[in-house]
Amino acid sequence: MSVNLLDFDAKALIDFCAGIGEKSFRAKQLLRWIHRSGEADFAGMSDLGKELRDKLSTAAIIEPPRVISDHTAIDGTRKWLLSVGAGNGIETVFIPETNRGTLCISSQVGCALACTFCSTGRQGFNRNLTVAEIIGQLWWANKALAEEFQEDAARSRAVTNVVMMGMGEPLANFENVVTALDLMLDDNAYGLSRRRVTVSTSGLVPAMDRLRERCPVALAVSLHAPNDALRDQLVPINKKYPIKELLAACQRYLQFAPRDFITFEYVMLEGVNDSLTHARELVQLVQHTSCKFNLIPFNPFPGSGYRRSSPEAVRLFRDVLMQAGLITTVRKTRGDDIAAACGQLAGKVYDKTRRVNREIVEATR
Ligand code: SAH
Ligand code: SF4
Repeated sequence: MSVNLLDFDAKALIDFCAGIGEKSFRAKQLLRWIHRSGEADFAGMSDLGKELRDKLSTAAIIEPPRVISDHTAIDGTRKWLLSVGAGNGIETVFIPETNRGTLCISSQVGCALACTFCSTGRQGFNRNLTVAEIIGQLWWANKALAEEFQEDAARSRAVTNVVMMGMGEPLANFENVVTALDLMLDDNAYGLSRRRVTVSTSGLVPAMDRLRERCPVALAVSLHAPNDALRDQLVPINKKYPIKELLAACQRYLQFAPRDFITFEYVMLEGVNDSLTHARELVQLVQHTSCKFNLIPFNPFPGSGYRRSSPEAVRLFRDVLMQAGLITTVRKTRGDDIAAACGQLAGKVYDKTRRVNREIVEATR
């Protein structure tokens, strides 16, 4: 059976080339064709001889996930639904800003961690994405955006930043995510710096330690509560890795991190975690951790049972953090008219965990 070259990082491509009797510099050529030029057809790889192109065609394919739909929101946010087979779909979101373009990438079909305020978490879990399906999202976005901006050469590679904040918990799909990260950072592929690639985690402590060793990109941690009693309810994985252990892992990560702070994400849920008492408790909690805060106004989805905190409550909460010297930003809600905002990504997930005992097909879209 043919292998999919989108599954391979530089080292795996060298091994593949060796396996078909080719020198290792061919791996570099392939990497550049596939990822820098977005070429999926060996016939188009003009500096490889005909014989080699034929050999590649019999041994391998270059197959990204297929695009099922493509929507652009009023604010320019663009969302793709990609098919990953067996009726499952994942979502990828591009968020254009003045000086940068951020691509929000999914790592799993659904998510098993079941945070109560998250649409993906409510859908249950089907499977981990392959490397090809993860890096394929960046591959597609670059191609689609290059077409969109072809009039404007300066913007032809519009993805300047990647955040692993789409569907799924990236650190629960560790090996595939790390291989995809390697490709994002590889100069022959996407050439992004470690500062411009962010992994967001709900706090899988052992995997945070492994990421620190293997590929220390920028880290965002979904905190969402200032104490274990509340976090246990919102982010159930907290029962396994409570806040004290999570903060200790953050300290260890900081020694290797490309930025000298961890970003704490905090979803603002009205009447749940948004009081001034919570804000003050949070200040105490993180006083020894170098961090910034990103407050995310809750993005509703049908049947969530939560409400977004009022702008006033968010402002007062932010003021308490800022007065304590914590740099705090409030995340702008982008693309909510096409359900592309944080926590609204649903895709199509055939749940295998039996938690959601029915098929959800675009029910929340
Ligand atoms: N699984 C990872 C990354 C994906 S979620 C994580 O949990 O960190 C990306 C961010 O969106 C997380 O901070 C998550 O808590 C937040 N989020 C989830 N549902 C949300 C919602 N309905 N409204 C706003 N933010 C949400
Ligand atoms: Fe999974 Fe993150 Fe959603 Fe929690 S917030 S259910 S970890 S995707």
